[in-house]
Amino acid sequence: MLKVGVLGATGMVGQRFVALLENHPWFRVAAVAASPSSAGKSYADAVAGRWAMTGPIPAATAGLVVGDASDVAAMADQVDFVFCAVDMPKAATAALEEAYARAEVPVVSNNSAHRWTPDVPMMIPEINAEHAGVIEAQRKRLGTERGFITVKPNCSIQSYVPAIHPLLSFGPTKILVCTYQAISGAGKTFTTYPEILDNVVPYIGGEEEKSENEPLKIWGSVVDGEIIKAAGPIIGAQCVRVPVSDGHLAAVSVAFERPPAEDELRGAWKEFSGRPQQLGLPSAPEPFLHYTEDETRPQPALDRDAGNGQAVTIGRLRADPIFDWRFVALSHNTVRGAAGGAVLTAELLTSDGYLQAR
Ligand code: NAP
Repeated sequence: MLKVGVLGATGMVGQRFVALLENHPWFRVAAVAASPSSAGKSYADAVAGRWAMTGPIPAATAGLVVGDASDVAAMADQVDFVFCAVDMPKAATAALEEAYARAEVPVVSNNSAHRWTPDVPMMIPEINAEHAGVIEAQRKRLGTERGFITVKPNCSIQSYVPAIHPLLSFGPTKILVCTYQAISGAGKTFTTYPEILDNVVPYIGGEEEKSENEPLKIWGSVVDGEIIKAAGPIIGAQCVRVPVSDGHLAAVSVAFERPPAEDELRGAWKEFSGRPQQLGLPSAPEPFLHYTEDETRPQPALDRDAGNGQAVTIGRLRADPIFDWRFVALSHNTVRGAAGGAVLTAELLTSDGYLQAR
């Protein structure tokens, strides 16, 4: 068992970590931390009135005293590594994560602060497990033996990038995507965000840039201890907030250099599996990609929990009159898109020897 700390444990993503790690076979929540306003309270008191998960607060975590996430030394004494889901200004998050890494506490982060640091892997474990190879170069730069940072990409890309990845051999050149994103992605519930009812908001700050650029790092290559982003495909994204609790849906059109036949597309999705599936990691969904023949799906309410929220559901494949093919894809934004994807990343890093007990 590795001892885990959760930074930002009281927030939407932090709560999801706490829920997912209850009964995890490899990881045990040993410490939780948040802002100074929660520090010193029991975890149950700190999340009272804002626990947003469907199950109860895990008993083993409810009684832990919340620490101050900026007290790196106190956390470092208690844990083997941390998951980070604090909501702080970018520069402060970057500094905090680096302080943990330099204190020899590996960080698996949901935050965007280090996504473009060239020797920090940004991982979707089924797609770019080999990017963990840059960790040695990062440790060298930081002067650490075990400390390092690894990050998750933005939740918005987790539905369509897994669907396009098995199609790379057909040479996708242009991708147009519109995402329909749940309110938990903004740390909100219908109680805290009543204005979203009977409404959509066609703006999510910074989301379109992330949606267009982060896939290129995911599909990038490792060269001399750094990840060099891929030159293409070119991606155009529009990101819209919709009145859905959990689950980001993406409507996608793709043009290819060598447009596949429909059965080649379906076959590529059906046959795809990544290292998490091959290694049988505890949180790996099997299969990772589901295709639904029901033309009214995927729907967030019906499909977000596929594979315990770790799978991606694809549907509505049809020819596109402007591009070659179009389809719809869905993933659970706080499971696969955030905490669950980070837990799977940590499982992969443990399996590959990057995370170990002290
Ligand atoms: P949230 O619900 O607002 O939670 C924020 C957390 O950060 C809380 O635990 C809060 O502690 C803590 N925090 C705030 N200021 C802090 C400080 N100065 N020092 C230490 N801790 C501090 O936000 P969220 O939705 O969980 O998102 C957390 C991060 O994950 C954000 O960077 C977000 O962009 C990213 N993310 C979110 C999603 C998603 O689907 N929600 C997906 C991917 C990535 P208190 O409770 O004590 O204030």
